[in-house]
Amino acid sequence: SEILLEELDHVGPATAQKLNDAGYNSVEAVAVASPSELVATAEIGESTAAKIISAARSAADIGGFETGDFVMQRRMEVGKLRTGCEEFDELMGGGIETQSITEMYGEFGSGKTQIAHQLAVNTQLPRDMGGLDGSVIIIDTENTFRPERIEQMVAGLSQKFEQDFDPAEFLKNIHVARAYNSNHQILLVDAAMEMANNLKNTDKPVRLVIVDSLTAHFRAEYVGRGTLADRQQKLNKHLHDLQRFGDLNNASVIVTNQVMSKPDAFFGDPTRPIGGHILGHTATFRLYIRKSKGDKRIVKLVDSPCLPDGEAVACITTDGLCD
Ligand code: ADP
Ligand code: MG
Repeated sequence: SEILLEELDHVGPATAQKLNDAGYNSVEAVAVASPSELVATAEIGESTAAKIISAARSAADIGGFETGDFVMQRRMEVGKLRTGCEEFDELMGGGIETQSITEMYGEFGSGKTQIAHQLAVNTQLPRDMGGLDGSVIIIDTENTFRPERIEQMVAGLSQKFEQDFDPAEFLKNIHVARAYNSNHQILLVDAAMEMANNLKNTDKPVRLVIVDSLTAHFRAEYVGRGTLADRQQKLNKHLHDLQRFGDLNNASVIVTNQVMSKPDAFFGDPTRPIGGHILGHTATFRLYIRKSKGDKRIVKLVDSPCLPDGEAVACITTDGLCD
């Protein structure tokens, strides 16, 4: 897990605090700093600064290069989680991929949480039914997880597959944690990693992690221009952790991001999340969800690295997501 600045040689609590205050809040940030920058910000001598930078460079998780065949090997293990709606699956090239972050953004009430619930159910299905035969972790920041909704959706699946699925079994494989603020939310990914390690060799390894909402705490806590860089840095780290979780566990990562429609915006693409590109290009798949007539929802795939942009119509009913 993440190395704290305090853990580096030559960095005491006071120096760590000064570095943090100056925006050097990761080992990587220190690793790429110059000694003179640190001398100025942390009030330390030039030689100490050099030693700290060198310690940070050895500690930083820089990763490395891997050959294409190795990347191919990992890609071959990518699973596809079916949504319950065929058009939606087709849009995604067969389903929601593992080892990727899929962002769902849209207005309040557009159906992000509903879709997340459905995926939490579907993940547990065997692969030949479109699932990943796995369990689920939900980081719930808005207290919108509803076990009753899971029960309804499992009942929907029982009907669809003409089988008696036990809702209680499905609920047992969903691990929910409330996140009370953005830092807590970030730390919960570490806890999720631990839980995933514990379940790794069971018959229900973790195959889906949901962060609903990814951005709400960050938006609420980082208000004002001066704090935007901080927010971005924290969010980037958070997303990086989530991507790593997905890679290491061959799991899908679903994050939601509430955006507001802006009827007075004549410029730019209305399907772009406003409030800035808060997620940058860290999410692999970006889905813009909007309400249509009745129980219909329009799901639009935006800027995928490997799939054509397009739209699908899905329905949200009491039984769950369907065509
Ligand atoms: P978001 O997370 O994007 O803010 P939600 O996923 O909470 O939005 O979507 C809420 C909508 O989902 C409701 O307005 C309703 O249309 C639909 N919905 C919620 N529960 C049910 C249900 N039990 N049966 C049918 N539709 C439902
Ligand atoms: Mg929601």
